Amino acid sequence: MDSQPRPGSQHFVALEERYGARNYLPVPVVVERARDCLVWDVEGREYIDMMGAYSAVSHGHLHPRLVAAATRQLEKVAVTSRAYHGSTLGPFLQKLCALAGFERALPMNTGAEAVETAIKCARRWGYRVKGIPDGQAEILVARGNFHGRTSTIVGFSSEPEYRAGFGPFAPGFRHFDFGDLASIEAAAGPHTCAVLIEPIQGEAGVVLPPPGFFRALRDWCTRERVLLIDDEVQAGLGRTGRWFAFEHEGIRPDALILGKALGGGLLPVSAFLADAAVMDVFEPGSHGSTFGGNALAAAVALEGLCVLEEEQLVERAARHGPLLMERLHEVRRAAAPLIRDVRGRGLWVGVDIDPAHGSARRLVERLAARGVLSKETHETVIRFAPPLTITPVLIEKACAVFREVATTREAGPPD
Ligand code: PMP
Repeated sequence: MDSQPRPGSQHFVALEERYGARNYLPVPVVVERARDCLVWDVEGREYIDMMGAYSAVSHGHLHPRLVAAATRQLEKVAVTSRAYHGSTLGPFLQKLCALAGFERALPMNTGAEAVETAIKCARRWGYRVKGIPDGQAEILVARGNFHGRTSTIVGFSSEPEYRAGFGPFAPGFRHFDFGDLASIEAAAGPHTCAVLIEPIQGEAGVVLPPPGFFRALRDWCTRERVLLIDDEVQAGLGRTGRWFAFEHEGIRPDALILGKALGGGLLPVSAFLADAAVMDVFEPGSHGSTFGGNALAAAVALEGLCVLEEEQLVERAARHGPLLMERLHEVRRAAAPLIRDVRGRGLWVGVDIDPAHGSARRLVERLAARGVLSKETHETVIRFAPPLTITPVLIEKACAVFREVATTREAGPPD
């Protein structure tokens, strides 16, 4: 009864601001706990999670089967490094390869590491298989890409904000316009070993390519002997209503990059997948990671794949995505001219705000104040990527709040 008052949100915000690096600008919500699609802050206020940790929490927060799998594994062994074999890695890789349709998978931790793995693999394949002169391999990347934050990866970003002051950057990357095959042809040369591309550009604002683009790209890559490397760190594992976004396009890439949801919302787990003819350019000692494929991560990731399959979460995304999209289109009409565009696929939607009429950041903050979590990207787009377990009731509730926020002006100065 006479215990100290619990510290409130301001306390934790102040600690992060005092001791943390300033590389993020979080929405002012201090999360204390979460379950499935709901989140609670330190004052006990409830939120609908329409953001899903940038698509890392596709299973919902703390899915009981994933917590149980983690707990079981924590009673056995968690980390041994790849110096030894383990009893969870093989079964995880087997399941992952079967689901994705590739012969081999290389486990890493974060998305950026899996992208780095892809870059190393593509270059070696270029030298050893395609016969590109050593040190001259080139990888084509899209303008507006987002593949992570390492110095090599930001070096081929087209966003000044991600690059400024971090050079010198690694050479060997050339840009093309996303969705434009002619631009790819113009950027390519005899030393091109790969095209590295997102099926939908997430961080750029949920940007979809024109229909038929990926099929044309697939044909071009095959003709030119260039690897098509598909970065589905954000799009993969059900987000778009298919297991993998490339299925919408009726193609199969030469290599696939997964992350985020692969860790079941509990741990960082990523992977690079390819057939043996590509993957086997790696021999022992050529690549690795202390934590990549650790016993705990593999146990959780395997269970995560089983949950996606058995609870039909991919089908749920396909079923409920259109409801989210429809409601957001209704908000667009009701709030005209605030919203320029609503686009996406499955449970992944970007709402493009006209900066002449409002600020995405301010709308995200007002949504949070009313119990709906979202996040802006690139100043003008609000991103919705709820857990795939989201129910129609919660979608309706969140969209009703968004409608209210989008159609009422704030008191005081305009957004
Ligand atoms: N690739 C894509 C397509 C991504 O969206 C992201 C993260 N947003 C990454 C790579 C990097 O993943 P991570 O933050 O886990 O390094």
